[in-house]
Amino acid sequence: MKLLVATGNQGKLKEINRLLADAPIEIVGLDQLIDPPEVFEDGETFEANACKKAQEMARFSGMLTLADDSGLVVAALNGDPGVHSARYAGEHGDDAANNLKLLREMDPVKDENRQAAFHCVMALAWPGGRCECRAGQVSGLIMHGERGEGGFGYDPLFMVPEYGKTMAELPLEIKNRISHRGTALRKVILLLLELAK
Ligand code: IMP
Repeated sequence: MKLLVATGNQGKLKEINRLLADAPIEIVGLDQLIDPPEVFEDGETFEANACKKAQEMARFSGMLTLADDSGLVVAALNGDPGVHSARYAGEHGDDAANNLKLLREMDPVKDENRQAAFHCVMALAWPGGRCECRAGQVSGLIMHGERGEGGFGYDPLFMVPEYGKTMAELPLEIKNRISHRGTALRKVILLLLELAK
């Protein structure tokens, strides 16, 4: 089965490739398409954005397409950065600036109120327009400073209490086992295997 994975984010791509490594699926990357359209993530929810991306790319490529939308939801910030996670500090994908802004916004927040969760919605779209979504999330706490070199995005600021480590300190195998993206993708793989029967 061929599957277009519609993400330009190298951190996500690495995780998704590893998660799909044992599935009977041939992965096609966006780099194998000629002039793919730019999809604007202007939805109000992770689900709306994931479906929009997957549907537009499936229509363009004529292939079964997987897209995700994900982000960090912080309780003390009324759910921010949420669907705006990638461009929290202004420029899309500037992880360092986003982390600095998060640290600044969280500065007055006491330790007992620093709960957060990563959310991910994976959307599988067919060229004819059908779209199926699956969600995953993982809970944690926002740190007072960065720790760890792995992962991407907000990982160095996201403490996973069960491990006493930030996401950026955990090996990729463990991150994939517990993460929002891993959970959502395992649900999508079940769906794909069901469809392949
Ligand atoms: P998207 O490309 O619109 O889904 O942007 C997701 C943004 O959320 C990323 O740029 C990161 O800032 C953040 N994010 C999503 N998943 C993760 C993760 O696993 N670790 C750290 N940050 C993440």
